[in-house]
Amino acid sequence: MTRRVPSVPLRFTVLALLLPALSACGLFDFEEREPWRAQAEAACFARKEVVPSSAVRPMSKISGPGICGVDRPLKVAALRTGEVDIVPAATLDCPMTAALDRWMASVVQPAAYARYGVPVIAVKNMASYGCRTRNHAPGAKLSEHAFANALDVGGFRFADGREVTVKSGWRAGEADRAFLREVLIGACGPFRTVLGPGSDGMHEDHFHLDLARHNARGEAYCRPKLTPPPPAAPPVFMASPARGTVPVAAAAPPPGPVPPQQAAPGYPAPGYPAADPATPRTDPAMVPAATPMPPASVGAPPLVWQRGPGPLGYGGVTGSVP
Ligand SMILES: [Zn+2]
Repeated sequence: MTRRVPSVPLRFTVLALLLPALSACGLFDFEEREPWRAQAEAACFARKEVVPSSAVRPMSKISGPGICGVDRPLKVAALRTGEVDIVPAATLDCPMTAALDRWMASVVQPAAYARYGVPVIAVKNMASYGCRTRNHAPGAKLSEHAFANALDVGGFRFADGREVTVKSGWRAGEADRAFLREVLIGACGPFRTVLGPGSDGMHEDHFHLDLARHNARGEAYCRPKLTPPPPAAPPVFMASPARGTVPVAAAAPPPGPVPPQQAAPGYPAPGYPAADPATPRTDPAMVPAATPMPPASVGAPPLVWQRGPGPLGYGGVTGSVP
């Protein structure tokens, strides 16, 4: 008896292999975009969370391929009425544009001022709209990028010309590491998906931010879980004119670009171990003036510190807190 090759099951096998890929690409006509997307977009415009301008221009509707697209896309060249450029301009929906504005105002700019003393003036856009699956993986679910509901942020440019990229800054000096961690942690609020270096190996050079709906409760998915960096150091400590031992000019910042901050006195070196409330940081400004001075024979008298304007860490003045 001749054994027949089971050709029908083979065809089914091939189809079964193709189905997820075709489905994920949204190539089947019977698929429909989830209704919440259009609802969220309409609500965003109705609440005037985004007001079109020369920096945020309405675009033509994007329909397909498949269910990819967005009803009322925006070409976003700048956030916050032009204060922060998006370079290059991003194609985003209204809710993402509004969320980026909130993140910029409540998280990024405060962190920028605290860490560097200057604001962010541009955000590096590595990807916005794109009809594709998550991480470009065949057969995977469609990415929020496919609905203009996501932005990949590669870095930041500051008002003093400094640039901090996710790729190099994540493991760079204290200020860059702290700033990037602070803004990534803070993104888990305005956004529903937040992914950065250490999350899944696919986000080592950018932050992925989106407004996916993971469940009915609207919970966020944020990875990696990070320990918040120590708070930014106080702006500066200058030699006290009252003690008259060190010229104030010695504390003036050097010309040229602002150097990266080092770990402030009393702070741990980069690595961010969990904060220990049992060992509060000593604020040198709080050191009482009655602190005993060493004998005159033991070198120069120690510096006495007080708060003053300007950034921290210049001219070797820091680091010898009593
Ligand atoms: Zn992304």
